[in-house]
Amino acid sequence: MNTTSSTPETVTLHKVETSPNHVHHHVESPSCHLVTFDRSGSSANIFDAAALTELDHLLTVLQDLPPTTRVIFSSAKPRIFIAGADLKSLQAALQANDSDAEIEHYLQLGQSVFQKIAELPATTIAAIHGACVGGGFEMTLACDYRFASDDKATKIGLPETQLGILPAWGGSTRLPRMIGTPKALTVILKGKPYPAKRAKKLGIVDRIVPKEYLLDVARKADVRAKHRNLQWHKHNPIVTRIACQVARRKIPARTLQHYPALDTAIKTIRKAAHGSVESGYAEERQAFLKLAHTVTSKQLIRLFFLRESAGKANRKLTVNLTPIQRTAVVGAGIMGTGIAYWLSARSYPVYWNDIAVEAISRGMKHLNNEYQKAVKRRIMTRHKAAQGLNRVYPRCGMPQTKAADLVIEAAVEKMELKKRIFRGLDESSSPDTILATNTSALSVTELAEGLQHPERVIGLHFFNPVSRMPLVEVIAGDRTNDRSIQRAVQFVSSIGKTPVVSADRPGFIVNRILVPYMLEAAHLVEAGEDPKQIDRAMLDFGMPMGPLRLSDEVGLDIALDVAQTLADAFPERVTVPPRLTQMVEKGLLGRKSGQGFYRYHKGKPVDESSSGSIASTARNSISLQERMVYLMINEAARCLEEGVTNHAKWIDLAMVLGTGFAPFTGGPLRLCDTQGARRWLTIGVTCADEIDSRFSPSSLLIQHSQETSTFYED
Ligand code: NAD
Repeated sequence: MNTTSSTPETVTLHKVETSPNHVHHHVESPSCHLVTFDRSGSSANIFDAAALTELDHLLTVLQDLPPTTRVIFSSAKPRIFIAGADLKSLQAALQANDSDAEIEHYLQLGQSVFQKIAELPATTIAAIHGACVGGGFEMTLACDYRFASDDKATKIGLPETQLGILPAWGGSTRLPRMIGTPKALTVILKGKPYPAKRAKKLGIVDRIVPKEYLLDVARKADVRAKHRNLQWHKHNPIVTRIACQVARRKIPARTLQHYPALDTAIKTIRKAAHGSVESGYAEERQAFLKLAHTVTSKQLIRLFFLRESAGKANRKLTVNLTPIQRTAVVGAGIMGTGIAYWLSARSYPVYWNDIAVEAISRGMKHLNNEYQKAVKRRIMTRHKAAQGLNRVYPRCGMPQTKAADLVIEAAVEKMELKKRIFRGLDESSSPDTILATNTSALSVTELAEGLQHPERVIGLHFFNPVSRMPLVEVIAGDRTNDRSIQRAVQFVSSIGKTPVVSADRPGFIVNRILVPYMLEAAHLVEAGEDPKQIDRAMLDFGMPMGPLRLSDEVGLDIALDVAQTLADAFPERVTVPPRLTQMVEKGLLGRKSGQGFYRYHKGKPVDESSSGSIASTARNSISLQERMVYLMINEAARCLEEGVTNHAKWIDLAMVLGTGFAPFTGGPLRLCDTQGARRWLTIGVTCADEIDSRFSPSSLLIQHSQETSTFYED
């Protein structure tokens, strides 16, 4: 069960207090009944107790229909079929005294209602248009057929494991029976939402139909026989056992440890794939109850809501703002190219320039490659790719800003150069055009100095690679006005990224916290620690990549530039290890130069570290992992103290989305709350005593430790 969107209203899981009319029944003809989900007062359909109970009552009526009838399930919402279960109710239930009984009741309700659909004598067809995920997809699994619209909005899948739980409204039992255990494991363990074409290939939908004809095809399709031909080889217990073993072996041990839902889902699928449906349901419920109480699932669900609330808060803020329709990008390097691709693929015209003719022609070549890759991976059709490419207007020389509502500057990270560019932009663009910089750490306020309209200068910090990183930091300079912030935030949401607003402080949120941690790893190398051990410590913690590999990926020259900005701003605690400067001077820039902290062959790290075998120095009493994590927690606390943002949640969200900070912890400040400020203060004080004053704890950490208070109230 999951949801892409849910309403804030909460009802207890099994008690229905209102009859809000979420499910409509229309007898189209004696042989065709249409059931339409249309949750009142919401743009999304979700399954809470009220909607399930309504559906249950309706199914009692439909139970008496003769086998010659068909029942079509559809949605009245423009972009959502059913977005899953009501996770707010689940969160509330977990707080209740008798939470297990409450949750079990909710699970049983969903299972029994969907079982009723499976037992209807009529032929049942789910006509899916829009997001059909989690509990929504589990409902359709109980139908005989699933027809999906070919629209971009249609996304089908079971993302529960991404939230630390598992499908427990029959999904873990029905899916393996429908498409076989190996494919069911992929769908459930990856937790990805699939577009209609991919869903059809996986066998989780039966037909793809143009959106306009979806209901008509469902009405007229010749699909009288029940679609329950199970293929023997897919239901062979040996195949199931082997598939489960292989799936488990493919998941790294540390991932299994941090995300218990994966192992539990494999075990549940294995048990539920054979035997009676009822025993499968019981397995699902038992496993779900166990997972719902884990810290991992609580943090993942919190992050899910946090990400949603970033979007929602923005939508509220952005009423009556002139939307951005045309964009310009300055600079055709790594970031300029990534941004130009992302925007043009999302229907924005992009006027794109660079001072170097080679840069813009190389940029166009990369852009073209990106589009071709997207076609190859079936993310878009050839026609859509050609349209996207046609939206880009490249030129060498001055930017073409007259027609643009937003200019994003992504030229090299030099203040003087950027200032010159912004002076030109200020003169050549309309005063209503937002002028944004993609700077990693330079001051937006300083950049706006002396301009005629500093109020429209802002930072839009995209992360590399643009197409994979979901976060964009929105940097408000001292003179940036609210309108520009809101327009920028609205724009970021409209391109499918999550905006987090940050004050204009060095490094903003993410680099401010990440860079001291990366530097600490370099300090450790300098002190004689093995780079592989350092990286392993952080992989074990749950980071997607070790800090030294990350430095190599980013490029040691770029890392050094940002580090220098932070060292200038915070000389008392940020120092650049001489080794890093020496490596850059020697041209050891990381992966792009073939050597950094690691050696690279054809872009891949070779096993040995470049630093050779250095005898490990005497350690202090704190582990490598604690030392590096502490620095992130402490710097995050300083950000809050200084008002870089107004709530711990935005720091945590930015760190999880911008760096992959172990999502199961909920972010650095949530982790501190969970484990107690006292623990982290002790680590900081010990490191400050034994190693260096750069570990000195922030006042906020000391305060929370003394008062046994927390960064969050809940
Ligand atoms: P890059 O060196 O790959 O590209 C910079 C481009 O700017 C070059 O093609 C150069 O010819 C062009 N340029 C220089 N002066 C110009 C001018 N006056 N007008 C137009 N173009 C000009 O740099 P990049 O990595 O793409 O970084 C661009 C910006 O994005 C920097 O501010 C950087 O700090 C920031 N950033 C970089 C990353 C990253 O990982 N590379 C991540 C986030 C933000």
